[in-house]
Amino acid sequence: MKLKTKLALAFAVIALVATLLASGMVTLAVKNAFQTYVSSHQNMRLKQWVTVFSGYYSENQTWAGAQSLVAAGRGRGRGAQVHRGPGPVAARERVLLADPSGSVVVDSYGDKLGARLSPQEITRGTEIKVNGKTVGTLLVSVEPPTGLVTMEDIFSSSVNRSVIWSSLLAIALAAALGIFFADKLSRPIKLLTAAARSLAKGDLEQKVAVPGSDELADLAETFNSMAESLAETEQLRQALVADVAHELRTPLAVLRGNLESLLAGVTKPSEETLASLHDEVLRMTYLVRDLQELSLADAGQLHLNLENEDIIKLTSDVVSALEFEAAAKHLDIKTDFPTKSLPVTVDSKRIKQVLFNLVGNAVRYTPDGGKINVRVTETNGSVEISIADTGPGIPEKDLPYIFERFYRSDKARTRSTGGTGLGLAIAKGFVEAHGGTITAANQPQGGSVFTVILPKQPINQG
Ligand code: ADP
Repeated sequence: MKLKTKLALAFAVIALVATLLASGMVTLAVKNAFQTYVSSHQNMRLKQWVTVFSGYYSENQTWAGAQSLVAAGRGRGRGAQVHRGPGPVAARERVLLADPSGSVVVDSYGDKLGARLSPQEITRGTEIKVNGKTVGTLLVSVEPPTGLVTMEDIFSSSVNRSVIWSSLLAIALAAALGIFFADKLSRPIKLLTAAARSLAKGDLEQKVAVPGSDELADLAETFNSMAESLAETEQLRQALVADVAHELRTPLAVLRGNLESLLAGVTKPSEETLASLHDEVLRMTYLVRDLQELSLADAGQLHLNLENEDIIKLTSDVVSALEFEAAAKHLDIKTDFPTKSLPVTVDSKRIKQVLFNLVGNAVRYTPDGGKINVRVTETNGSVEISIADTGPGIPEKDLPYIFERFYRSDKARTRSTGGTGLGLAIAKGFVEAHGGTITAANQPQGGSVFTVILPKQPINQG
């Protein structure tokens, strides 16, 4: 069932229930009001008749002739002159008076004169007392005349008619309102559905504009940001595939060229040629290994071999391994380590790789004669390793992207002058897998500084 139909139906049912309730209450109230009116009217008539009859009796000391009081028109006879009754007997009124023995002495209908009242009738009746003595029992009842529509009936049916009409009007109005609101409500839902369908078909440029600040506007906003991040992921995926293809193309071309010339006998398989071929194969191997590590880190499935290690020893091992390269560029690597050992629980291979990438970059990007400062400090529950250099630093615009895979500040630089472009991405993946952080910044005096903060006890990673 469509939302429109559902809402219209719901509104109509609510209107129906409300009007039924209202009409029930009105009918009840009308009935009560009429009953109160009828009984108070009856009481009034009874009181009037009691006055008339007791007056008559105290005057005459007998009921003889009292029948004339209930005769049509003004009462005839003596009593009528003295007592002014409540007026002629009303059409629906029956007046019965019995003497103390229970025998009927006055009957406005006339047919019970002389008959005896039953004990029930006597108990229902009102005693007429004169000078403290019961002289008779009076029964006054209003009987609905047959074949005649009573006032109550007329009133009730007119109320019922207007209740029916107002119910019908309310239901129609409610259904129309339901359709109106459903239309308003379903418009953004329809827009969202259409956008989601297009998104599912691969059109990631979907945006839904839902004004306002209600839940649907929130949903539209969430949808838009989801579409945006999907588009971003797709872009990254495409860029990654292109980058991987690009990185593999060069070593493959070198391999192919060399192999073809070897096969054609143009070049002899010298040690130098084979070493260069081996170099290209190694490059590709590292690239593929790095990519695999990265994808594991991304998926949070990097398995860490956590062990208690001295972070100072790990860092100085890395610095020593790069000393030869640094010396070739006349770089001055200074270390600033605490005097005592600083144990941390890490995967030493992974953390060594992180430090190797960072110090390696500092060596690679710092021009000849520059300075590199490697510092280890202990902070609350963690260790901080910073690598600062006097190189060119990182352009401010590149800082937010420096840890993305294949991101290079200098786009023109090829892999011959730089690494795979995965070094920092891998460093970030490994550090975060340990529950740590890595940041890059430029120093005020020039050069860049990379800071790694590692918890001494990482949150256990599978
Ligand atoms: P690459 O293999 O290109 O070095 P990285 O991920 O290690 O890849 O580094 C990404 C980019 O960050 C580098 O291409 C370089 O532009 C910049 N970079 C990294 N370290 C430094 C540094 N110490 N000084 C200046 N630029 C740096």
